[in-house]
Amino acid sequence: MRYATFSVDGDPTPRLGVADQTHIVDVQALAAPLDAGAVPGTLSELISQGPEAWQQMAELLRAELPRYKGTRHAFTDVQWQAPIPRPTKNVMCVGRNYKGHIEEGARARGEAVKYPEVPVIFTKGPTSVSGPFDVISYERSVTQQVDWEAELGIVIGVGGRNIARADALRHVFGYTVINDVSARDLQKNHVQFFKGKSLDGFCPMGPVVVTTDEFGDPQQKNVICRVNGVVKQDGNTRQMIFPVDVIIEWMSKGMTLEPGDIIATGTPDGVGFSRTPPEYLEDGTVMETEIEGIGTMRNVFSVRQ
Ligand code: MG
Repeated sequence: MRYATFSVDGDPTPRLGVADQTHIVDVQALAAPLDAGAVPGTLSELISQGPEAWQQMAELLRAELPRYKGTRHAFTDVQWQAPIPRPTKNVMCVGRNYKGHIEEGARARGEAVKYPEVPVIFTKGPTSVSGPFDVISYERSVTQQVDWEAELGIVIGVGGRNIARADALRHVFGYTVINDVSARDLQKNHVQFFKGKSLDGFCPMGPVVVTTDEFGDPQQKNVICRVNGVVKQDGNTRQMIFPVDVIIEWMSKGMTLEPGDIIATGTPDGVGFSRTPPEYLEDGTVMETEIEGIGTMRNVFSVRQ
């Protein structure tokens, strides 16, 4: 299933939608005339109900979608939100998880290349989350070095602590696209990554969450970022140093992961700061972030003084 969160003209209430390649159906509208019992109104609610509820929902949708006579909203007619518009905690992130990205960073800083032996972990604040087609605004007085990082996002479905690698993928609900937008100057000046990674809007997410059954192998997906139509990043999740199952194993050591938690898995090479000369996201820049099997986000930047 491909789940989305959207609203419609004149009603900003977020709705749980199920998407195909061109249209979204409101899950509650579809279920209303059926004897289906209570149906979740948000993706977070569905996730928190657990695997049996996910299965029931998938069966309901597979049976009813083909004969549904209600509104199918065209992608262009809805306001897209992040699938989980306001996570209950920080988005967890893995840094330096692709060799190419580590090498370009070391080159730009004039340092020796050093690959991590355990995952580099940091977070982005919940207020950084924005929709897959939102305008992202920042003030030039705050940062002059805003960079892109296309990443595969994991959405945890079943919580756990000390999750073994062999069990890890069974804890995943689905996958989404994240851009770990980064203010490089703040990332450097404040020593810790948190501030430079957490400016408002700096975590666009979506357009959909694709459930694990439909997504398939998370380590065989192209990860692409285009800036003003030019391909800047063109990697594949097979290049991760720590794959998804290993990330979950490390992240959950002594720390409980909960349903709805989100983990960004790191970015391939091709970011802006390590280019010659460095490139950043300026006023009017169009950033497209795409992952094979999920979809493409398109965010425009608006810079104020
Ligand atoms: Mg990143």
